Amino acid sequence: MPRQTGRPPEFTAGSSRSPALKLVFSPRYAIDIGPHVFLTEKYHRIHDRMLATTHLVLDDVVVPETASWDQLALVHTDDYLDKVRALTLSFAEILELELPLTAPIVEGFRLMAGGTLTTARFSLADGIAVHVGGGFHHAFANHGEGFCLFNDVAVAIEVLRLEDAVSCVAVVDLDVHHGNGTAMIYGQDPAVFTCSIHEQHNYPVFKPRGSLDIGLPAGTDDTRYLEKLETALPSVMAHAPDLVFYLAGADPFEDDQLGNINLTKAGLRRRDRRVLGAVRDAGIPLVVVAAGGYARQLTDTVDIHVATIEEALAVEQ
Ligand SMILES: [Zn+2]
Repeated sequence: MPRQTGRPPEFTAGSSRSPALKLVFSPRYAIDIGPHVFLTEKYHRIHDRMLATTHLVLDDVVVPETASWDQLALVHTDDYLDKVRALTLSFAEILELELPLTAPIVEGFRLMAGGTLTTARFSLADGIAVHVGGGFHHAFANHGEGFCLFNDVAVAIEVLRLEDAVSCVAVVDLDVHHGNGTAMIYGQDPAVFTCSIHEQHNYPVFKPRGSLDIGLPAGTDDTRYLEKLETALPSVMAHAPDLVFYLAGADPFEDDQLGNINLTKAGLRRRDRRVLGAVRDAGIPLVVVAAGGYARQLTDTVDIHVATIEEALAVEQ
């Protein structure tokens, strides 16, 4: 079990990096959502692999605080939260969410929303931190969809802005699916730069315009993908964010069940290295969150997320 909980001991924006990367994780992320393409067991598999194969130890793992309903309300409408809390979403709303709605599921996703906030606090203190969870970018202010109940990244941004911990933020969303919820939430907000590189003709059909959207054709390979990423990163950095969120989705993988982008594991690792290196070179704190990943073999999804964290460890050293 992870030992540390809550906030970093020295929560000071811009302070120097700590010697060890923090992983934010809870065993309670193994949320029972029934038979589903989204296998929540990936989270503890990633956690277990990291502890077994790297120098990370239990003391490097932080258990998050659950996001409060007030924190969630900084992003989500009262009407939506009331229905989620009372488990009274309509049948149509549950179909759109593509998750069952039970009290343990609500609590699990509320905990994961807190996890992204906890990770962001460690990032501000240490320069980089990783959430073995989060990245629920299809959640809008007034509804959830596509396995996303709460928009954890937006909640973290709003809590930190309320605390004056950040002012200008960027979201680099490299999940294979467009970050529609995040784009809609920040469509009119010049302080939050949203960049999404995704498969154009895939879910979601409605893609609200983000700050920088790059829609790729099915079959895009490593070379073409990395070329597009190179064109995007300068625009993100030009926004001069004081915090960057990186949604390191594993679903642009060539054997993913919900995507048709053909990145290899080596290509995904190069993608991660490029994002991590660019943000490090700019001296900006980075929050890494897992986001999607639905490979035919769960072990492939775990491999890809683990590789992201290995690259984060390499950057941090
Ligand atoms: Zn996805």
